[in-house]
Order: sequence, then C-alpha cells, then structure tokens
Amino acid sequence: MIEQILRDAAAADAEVSAVLLRYFNPIGAHESGLIGEQPQGIPNNLMPYLCQVAAGKLPQLRVFGDDYPTPDGTGVRDYIHVVDLAKGHAAALAYAASHQGAEVFNLGTGRGSSVMDLIRSFERVNGIKIPYAIAPRRAGDIAACWADASKAERLLGWKAQKSLDDMCRDSWNWTKKSLNLEY
Ligand code: UDP
Repeated sequence: MIEQILRDAAAADAEVSAVLLRYFNPIGAHESGLIGEQPQGIPNNLMPYLCQVAAGKLPQLRVFGDDYPTPDGTGVRDYIHVVDLAKGHAAALAYAASHQGAEVFNLGTGRGSSVMDLIRSFERVNGIKIPYAIAPRRAGDIAACWADASKAERLLGWKAQKSLDDMCRDSWNWTKKSLNLEY
C-alpha cells in the first residue's frame, strides 16, 4: 500500500523522486558497540532474543520449528547487517537526487541462513553456548525468505558486504556494552 501511494505520488508530480527500500532481516549493531537497538521487554525477533539468552536474562531460545522444507528444517531468512542497510540508504539518497519517478529495491544479502546457522555462528564467534529447545512452529511464519538484491547492485551500486559472523559478533558486542556486562 505504501509503495503504491509513493508510486502514485511520483507519477502525479514530476518533481517527486521516491526510492522504496524493502528491508529483509536487519540485525547487528555498529562495530563500535556504541549504537544498537535495546529491546523493551521480551523481544520477539530472533537475534535480540538470542542476545538476551546469551546475557543470561532469558533461560533458553525456542527454535520455532525444525520440520520446515529447508536444509536443516529450521526457518531461513536473509539477515542483513544494519551498517550495510545504512549504506543502502545513503546509496538510495544519491539515486533519488538524480532520478525522477519511483523505484523499488530489495535490501538484503541474497543469502538465506537458518535459525541453526545463526545459533552456530553466534556460538563460534562469541565463544558462548546458547541453550535452545525445539518448539512448535510460530503461527504465520513461512519456511524461507531471502532477497534478490541484484537490482540494488545494478542501479544503486550497493551490495551488502558483512557476513553472518560479523552480524553475530557486533550484536553481542553491543548487547554486552549496553547492559554493562563483564565477559
Ligand atoms: N525464531 C525462532 N525463535 C525466536 C524468534 C524467531 O526460532 O525466539 C525464528 C522464526 O521462526 C524465523 C526466524 O527465527 O524462522 C526469524 O524470525 P524473526 O522474528 O527474527 O523475523 P521474521 O519472522 O520477521 O522474519
């Protein structure tokens, strides 16, 4: 709906330039550990929940389903580092300044990672064991979702650079600093 409204606005007024960005699954934090997202209450999303488990604030992670038609049975998503996402916005602003009309871009890495991939990467790069249990599927979840980000590369000259390991390291670094944890 929002995309359609902005397309209409750009079609109606030749001075309007709309660049529409579709986020996939943003996680991570600035590598300084000084900028990140601090969840209020119990988080719903995977990475903030996992960080609270790692910090000892929640007892264990529930893996919502291990019987999806994916390589390891757990849900697959396109996780993207927030700093890559920020750079995508800078590229979009430059594009908007020199193009009229409306254009839509997927901002993702183009790679899918499973819940187990994320847990394993987090454990490996941070040296922390994450207690988890397989739980039933969460209502409304799909098995797998990842981006075709080739249009953003072609027209914006933007491509995500950071790895899942980077995302896991930076999420944990931020969590430790923001909670004043000593590890
Ligand atoms: N997930 C999970 N346990 C949690 C939260 C999420 O297993 O406590 C799974 C969820 O089923 C999905 C993936 O992690 O496969 C990403 O979920 P999230 O809520 O972070 O993002 P979204 O559902 O919006 O893609």
